[in-house]
Order: sequence, then C-alpha cells, then structure tokens
Amino acid sequence: MIALVTGANKGIGLETATQLAGLGHKVYLGARDIEKGNAAKSKINNSENIEVIELDVSKEDSIQKAFERIKLENGRLDILVNNAAINYDTWQDALSADLNNVRETLETNLFGAWKMIQTFLPLMQQNNYGRIVNVSSGSGAITNMTVGTPGYSISKASLNILTINFAHIASNYDILINSVCPGWVKTDMGGAGANRSVSEGAETIIWAALLQKGAASGKFFRDKKEIPF
Ligand code: NDP
Repeated sequence: MIALVTGANKGIGLETATQLAGLGHKVYLGARDIEKGNAAKSKINNSENIEVIELDVSKEDSIQKAFERIKLENGRLDILVNNAAINYDTWQDALSADLNNVRETLETNLFGAWKMIQTFLPLMQQNNYGRIVNVSSGSGAITNMTVGTPGYSISKASLNILTINFAHIASNYDILINSVCPGWVKTDMGGAGANRSVSEGAETIIWAALLQKGAASGKFFRDKKEIPF
C-alpha cells in the first residue's frame, strides 16, 4: 500500500513511517524541512520503502505539490496519517491566551489536516480505498476541556469533529477515517517524563491505518479501544 505520514521527520510520525515501511508499504515521509526529512531517513535501517517528501501542512501550495507528486508516482494514496502538530500550550489558559498563538496552532493542527483530507480524499474515493488516521489527543476530548492548553485542546477537539464529518462523507466507500490518541509519549512534544515510548505511541495509529473493510469509522481510539470524543 501507499502511505503518507505528515510531520514524520521525528517523534511519533517518524516511528509510524518507519513501522509502516517495515511492514512492506511504500511510505512518503512528510517533512516541512526536507533536510530534516533526509536526515531522518538516513538513520532508518532498510529505508528502501521510504520516500522523503517536502510537506508543510500549513501551506496550501506545499500540500498541492505533494499531492501532484504522489498522484503522478502512484495514481493512488491508500493511507494518510495526519500526524503533524504544534504548540502543546501548557503556558496559557483560555482567559489570557495569546490568540495569535492559538490561530497559529489551528492553522497546522486543524486546517492543515482539513486541507490534507480535502486534497487526498477525492483520490481515495476514485480508488474506493482509503484509511485516514487523525492523530488527536485525550486533551481534545470534550470531557477534558478544563485541563488548560486552550489552543491545542481546541485544535484536537475540532480535529475530532472533522473525523466524524469526513467519515460520514466517505461512508459509501471502503474508506475509514478515525482519530487516535497515542497516549503520553516521550517526544519533543511529550517531554522526557512521558510514560510511553514512540513505538507504544505508534501502535494504535498503525492499527487504525490498516483496519479491514467494514471496521469502525468516525470513532476515537486509544490502545485500540474506542474512547469518548
Ligand atoms: P513532535 O513535536 O515530536 O513532532 C511533531 C512533528 O510535526 C515534527 O516532525 C514537526 O516538524 C512536524 N510539524 C509541525 N508543524 C508542521 C507543519 N506545519 N507541516 C508539517 N509538519 C509539521 O510531536 P509528537 O511526535 O509528540 O506528536 C505527534 C502527534 O501526536 C501530534 O499530532 C501530537 O499532537 C500527538 N500527540 C502527542 C502526544 C505526546 O505525548 N507526545 C500526546 C497526544 C497526542 P519539525 O521537526 O520541522 O518541527
């Protein structure tokens, strides 16, 4: 299968790309900085299934360019992992939040994923196959909205709503679209104190990327179990 992982030059995205490639899939490793993408690939053993692709999800022309390349090279995209995200904004609360910072967060975490799906879903519909994983967070669960990180939480809650919306739009096809919370993972975003490795963090993302026809769509998962939005 042909897969694309956004924000894959480090962290959970890199692990997801590496594991999918290890399973024999052709993986486009998305990096907004191509040098970082190439450096990441050079550290992967058996990286012959990995293609580095320049992709800044906050820029529509960058998304379009990546789309044209993938379409030209394969005519299809089977798996899209919307992983790229920024600004776990523990330093602010909703009352004092810098709204420019919140807008910037939404630009990547929400509109980036939205534009990616708008761009690639028609190609998946043409091929009647697709698996989209929106990498979300428990801090985007509505029941969790008192925890702070206002920009980040709202971006992930909104991403979850996108999951439901697009799953409905794609429901007549063999296309499954789900949100996944990876848990608290040791990465630059999660910090060294996190309790999960990147490999544990990537596990449910990969599971959702490889779901069989007729499996769940429009749902939210952690540890391969459905959790409330
Ligand atoms: P990292 O900060 O380690 O990695 C984020 C990746 O996203 C980097 O490759 C970064 O690129 C990339 N990125 C940021 N902005 C853009 C953009 N505009 N276009 C393309 N790529 C971009 O984060 P994690 O690996 O921890 O997080 C991965 C996902 O998991 C995120 O969606 C995050 O919200 C989610 N998550 C993480 C948790 C955790 O505990 N770590 C918990 C819950 C959810 P660059 O190197 O250039 O900055």
